[in-house]
Amino acid sequence: MKYKHLFGPVPSRRLGVSLGIDLVPHKTCTLNCVYCECGKTTNLTIERKEYVPTDEILNELKHYLDESPALDYITFSGSGEPMLHIKISEIIDFLKNNHPKYKVAVLTNGTLFYNKGVRDEVKNADLIIPSLDAGSCEIFKKINRPYEKLNLNEVVEGLAALRKEFPGEIWLEIFVVPGLNDTVDESQKIKEIIEKINPDKIQLNTLDRPGTEKWVMPAKKEELEKIASFLNAEIIADFKPRKKIKSFSKDIEGGIISTLRRRPCTAKDLSEILGIHLNEINKYLQALIETGKINSKEGERGTFFRIK
Ligand code: SF4
Repeated sequence: MKYKHLFGPVPSRRLGVSLGIDLVPHKTCTLNCVYCECGKTTNLTIERKEYVPTDEILNELKHYLDESPALDYITFSGSGEPMLHIKISEIIDFLKNNHPKYKVAVLTNGTLFYNKGVRDEVKNADLIIPSLDAGSCEIFKKINRPYEKLNLNEVVEGLAALRKEFPGEIWLEIFVVPGLNDTVDESQKIKEIIEKINPDKIQLNTLDRPGTEKWVMPAKKEELEKIASFLNAEIIADFKPRKKIKSFSKDIEGGIISTLRRRPCTAKDLSEILGIHLNEINKYLQALIETGKINSKEGERGTFFRIK
C-alpha cells in the first residue's frame, strides 16, 4: 500500500521510533515561522476543516498497524499545524481504542488551544509538544509571523488552560533564534510565561539545517546552555546522533546520497524524487550534515544540498 498521509517511522531524537501522521496539505499553518524546515506557509489560516479525508487516514492506519510494528510513538506532525484538522479527535480515539499499546503524541504550535473545544479534542493523547518561541507580541510577530487574528496572550492562556485540563505530559519546545528571542529581556518574559503554563518539560531547539529564511542562524552551544540554565530547560540538539536511533534507515540514506550524486537538490526535490515525506527527508539531511557527507548552498529555488 502506498501511504499518502503516514510517513516514517522517522528517527526522532525525542520520540525514538515515531510513525508520523500528516493531517494537512503542504504548507497549511496558523504561523509562518522564519525557521520552518518545511518552507514558507502558503495557506496561512486558522480555519479548521477536514483538510484530508479522515477515512483515508484511518484506512492507512488500519493497514499499517495491522502487523503490530514496533513503534515508540504515533505522532501528529507534518506539513503544517495538525490541530487545523477538525477530526483529529476521531483519529486519536481510533488509535487509543484499537491500538492502546501505542503512545500518541501531538506536535503543535499550540495557537488554537485558546478554544476549549480544540483542547478537548486532544484529551486522549499521551503527550503534547507545543512550541512557544516568544515572550512578547513583538517577537511573536517577528519569529512566528502569525495569522493576523492570533494574539500571543490568548495563545498563552490557551496553553495554561490545557495544562490544567490535560492529564498527559506537556513538553514545551522553544526554538532559539539568535538576535530575536535570546536577549535577557525576552528570556525573562518567556520564563514568566513558562511559569503560567507549567509544562512537564521545557526543551530548547535551534536551527539544524537551513530554514525558511536564510538569515536565521543556529544558536551557539554556549548560548543555548545559558538560556537552558535560566529556563531550567533541556537542549534537544544535544541528544544522541540520529544515526544511533533504531529507526534510522540505511536505504533512505543511500537513496538520498545517490540522488545528490547526480545533482544538487532541495529537500522538496528529494521528497518528490524518492516519494518520501518532507519531514522524513529533513531528518536524514540533518544526519548527513552532522556526519559531514553533504553541505548546503542557497539557490534560486531555495536551499540546495550537495555531496561534499
Ligand atoms: S508552526 Fe511549525 S509548521 Fe507552522 S510555520 Fe512554524 S515551524 Fe512551520
